[in-house]
Amino acid sequence: MEYKLLGKTGIKVSRLCFGALVIGPLQRNLSLEEGAAVIEEALRLGVNFIDTADLYDTYSYIRRAIERTGIRPVISSKCYAYTREDAKSCLDRALSETGIDYIDLFLMHEQESEHTIRGHWEAFEYYLEQKQAGIIKSVGISTHHIAVVKAATAIPEVDVIHPIVNKRGLGICDGTVDEMLEAIKKAHEAGKGIYGMKVFGGGNLLGDFEDALRFALGIPWLDSIAVGMQSIEEVRMNVALFDDIEAIGQYRSRLTERPKKALHADFWCEGCGKCARRCQQKALSLVEGKLRIDHEKCVLCGYCSASCPVFALKVY
Ligand code: SF4
Ligand code: SF4
Repeated sequence: MEYKLLGKTGIKVSRLCFGALVIGPLQRNLSLEEGAAVIEEALRLGVNFIDTADLYDTYSYIRRAIERTGIRPVISSKCYAYTREDAKSCLDRALSETGIDYIDLFLMHEQESEHTIRGHWEAFEYYLEQKQAGIIKSVGISTHHIAVVKAATAIPEVDVIHPIVNKRGLGICDGTVDEMLEAIKKAHEAGKGIYGMKVFGGGNLLGDFEDALRFALGIPWLDSIAVGMQSIEEVRMNVALFDDIEAIGQYRSRLTERPKKALHADFWCEGCGKCARRCQQKALSLVEGKLRIDHEKCVLCGYCSASCPVFALKVY
């Protein structure tokens, strides 16, 4: 496994980052033991970096994997807090539920513009104070927007940026993949740690897995790349391919057999529209009171399912 320094944070991370979203209740919803076993395999194979979020509800899996392996990985979490009080609750939850006494990265989740960064600044100041106190080691933002990568590059207090990037530019809200790459390059040159997300478009590019992975691995400004892994087999394959992409030949037949993921709405959907307002990709709309999913726009993040009051949405 290749390891890189995450910008100027001094934190060394594996190029493959374990994306925890997919094992949790928003997606595969593995049992505690099953989910922890997937993380454990990654830790044992040298993946030392886990990406999660308050929203993902996956802290318990991470805690169990740490307890069972004795390995303390680099952990990144994020939340939507605006206020100091909410920021404190989010951070306290991350620490207590994972059983750790400091967190390596804490990010402002899903920032949409420089205005949203400003809107979250009270929370961000709390994270900066906690960084001073040694409870958070580095701070930053996650985003689907090129404008936010640019804005965060200009903010000295931002240590790390977690942007969406993939070969077709799926999920980038305000421009092309080339424009995103240019912004990432400049951020990297400014000393920001960068770890990419959704290099397989949330699952939409799995049919084009090899090219999508070659593309991501070829981006020199990504210190690490978060990949959602739902099974021990997926962990083993991704570790092998991050080590040597030319090993892809032995996985090709298995890759083509993988079922395609999609977002599904169950019949008990009440047409309230909360999920449509939640989706940054504008993949959901209500047509005559019925929910319509635009699968071309959906990046399968599953965030809408967390906003549904009747649990009618699921990615599988
Ligand atoms: S529809 Fe849901 S899963 Fe798809 S991009 Fe929007 S929030 Fe994510
Ligand atoms: S939030 Fe749930 S109930 Fe409301 S429209 Fe979306 S899927 Fe239907």
